[in-house]
Amino acid sequence: MMEMRNCPKCKRVFNYISSPICPDCEKEEELVFDSVVDYVKNNPESNLAKVSQETGVSAKKLLRYVKEGRLEISKGMHGEIRCEKCGAPILKGRYCDTCVIAVNQQIDEMFETKKQDTIKMHVMDRIKHRN
Ligand SMILES: [Zn+2]
Ligand SMILES: [Zn+2]
Repeated sequence: MMEMRNCPKCKRVFNYISSPICPDCEKEEELVFDSVVDYVKNNPESNLAKVSQETGVSAKKLLRYVKEGRLEISKGMHGEIRCEKCGAPILKGRYCDTCVIAVNQQIDEMFETKKQDTIKMHVMDRIKHRN
């Protein structure tokens, strides 16, 4: 079953698989991303505004790359990205190391409670079937 969608970038219709944009635009985005990586590698002292200016990629998008862990932050960008939980300066991702550990623990606990709920449900099921 094919799902046709309109590409939000170029407005063309394309066969939707998983990417929200069409293959052409995706390729273009990859090229842009590569140029950003190259620029940051060659100009590690540039801050976010400068990188944005030189690559034509908005600061918001650059930050998204960093938060997705795709772009390593350069020396010039230090302090521009902060942990979403505690505000500590970080080098990549969304949280600082301390908060990553805390968040992971929370996720573990969530899974634990879920597991217990499922076990409870099974027991309830068995009780019901007996009657
Ligand atoms: Zn497109
Ligand atoms: Zn933090």
